[in-house]
Amino acid sequence: MDSSYLRKYARSADHNTFFADAQPLTDEQQRLIAMIDEVGVKWAERAFEHDRDASFPTANYEDIKAMGLLGLCVPKRHGGLGADYRTYTLVASRMSYYCSATANTFNMHNANALWTADMIDALDLPAEQRASHEQNRSLHYANMLAGNIYAQPFSEGSGAAAGRHPFGTVATRRDGGWVLNGKKIFASLAGSADYYGVLCTEDVPNPTLADTMFLAIPARAPGVSVVGDWDPLGMRGTVSRTLLFADVHVDDTAQMMPRGVYIQAASRYPHMFMTLTPTYIGLAQAVFDFTVAYLRGEVAGVNVKRRMYPTKQITVAEMYVKLQQAWALFHRATSEFKLNPSRAERLRAFACQNTVMEACAEIAAAAVRVCGGQAMLKTFPLERFYRDARCGSLMLPWTAEICIDRIGQGVLYEDGESPKDDQ
Ligand SMILES: Cc1cc2nc3c(=O)[nH]c(=O)nc-3n(C[C@H](O)[C@H](O)[C@H](O)COP(=O)(O)OP(=O)(O)OC[C@H]3O[C@@H](n4cnc5c(N)ncnc54)[C@H](O)[C@@H]3O)c2cc1C
Repeated sequence: MDSSYLRKYARSADHNTFFADAQPLTDEQQRLIAMIDEVGVKWAERAFEHDRDASFPTANYEDIKAMGLLGLCVPKRHGGLGADYRTYTLVASRMSYYCSATANTFNMHNANALWTADMIDALDLPAEQRASHEQNRSLHYANMLAGNIYAQPFSEGSGAAAGRHPFGTVATRRDGGWVLNGKKIFASLAGSADYYGVLCTEDVPNPTLADTMFLAIPARAPGVSVVGDWDPLGMRGTVSRTLLFADVHVDDTAQMMPRGVYIQAASRYPHMFMTLTPTYIGLAQAVFDFTVAYLRGEVAGVNVKRRMYPTKQITVAEMYVKLQQAWALFHRATSEFKLNPSRAERLRAFACQNTVMEACAEIAAAAVRVCGGQAMLKTFPLERFYRDARCGSLMLPWTAEICIDRIGQGVLYEDGESPKDDQ
């Protein structure tokens, strides 16, 4: 399909809320977004093939490597671009505007850098752990800068990824290193990543969440295999197949975080789990812009105007309202990333995740209806947007339902209170 309408809308201040006046972008943020715009239309055109074949967007990752973005959140002192949390969210949402599967997977890669950099430096760590962490992360950052892609498989099909109980994938101390055994489902980048940043549990008697470990496993290590089919409804280009780890041996440098630190980070930096909202806000914007272009008769292939019908105008207006609400919360919550955020900031992060994920799916559903039958053909991106949009609210650890659970309890129970008090 000819995606040239994107050239008009991607930079349209009337439509596009990447450039929110209330929070002007820094020069660096503008520069990074302009870089994505350079390759974006190409990505949008490739997305048809990756969706059809459920194949990984390898060529987009070649662009990402060439732009230095595998090191987006690698600190400058390690040779990376040193982007902060907010900058990551802007870059990722812009990626998703053109290819949501690329942004969804880039989230996984990037989390390995973001979670291990300045965030860890601000936590309480003994000097010895700080030193070993510095050594390990230098190695992994160098890998990323050399073009290695990191995935982030934590889902196991149980309550572990939701933080309900320890991960079933187990790391056992042996020969001065670790031996990993277990299984991860929905591992985006499976077969395309060079390292899998695996959340697992240290093999100790009666493990708790405090025994969670974060290990980088080389994709080609003996004992690592990718199994099963990948033929899902949406986000097909993520190629999120199943990973098996059978007696995979790694040395101590595999530790992406020192022992015991993951759980401290998870409880003190809740926004670290909100890094998929950019994918779905960027996608929602893409849906909206397609809809406007389509109804104005600007999409090549169906150059018929449909904008004059009042009911279509109402639907577009409702989509716009929902999109603006989502962006407003997105801009606010992504600016509130910090160590130990306030109770209000925590609750707002859940509200942001829930709003963006639900709004994206609702906007896409409205778009299919308002654009009409021809727009649903696979020659256009809309039906893919609709399927991809459906995936956002399913993403653990912050599914739409979990966000609602946490908000409900968080609002009704103050610190120190518990539902047990009411029994
Ligand atoms: C396109 C795509 C890409 C993905 N990529 C990755 C990836 O790269 N890495 C990764 O780790 N995962 C990834 N996922 C997986 C995703 O994050 C979820 O883990 C997965 O969708 C859960 O599927 P499920 O059927 O086990 O879900 P669910 O049943 O919804 O949830 C899993 C478990 O969480 C617990 N749970 C659910 N709701 C609650 C609740 N309200 N309160 C407490 N516990 C609850 C339950 O015990 C449940 O068994 C991806 C998913 C998709 C769709």
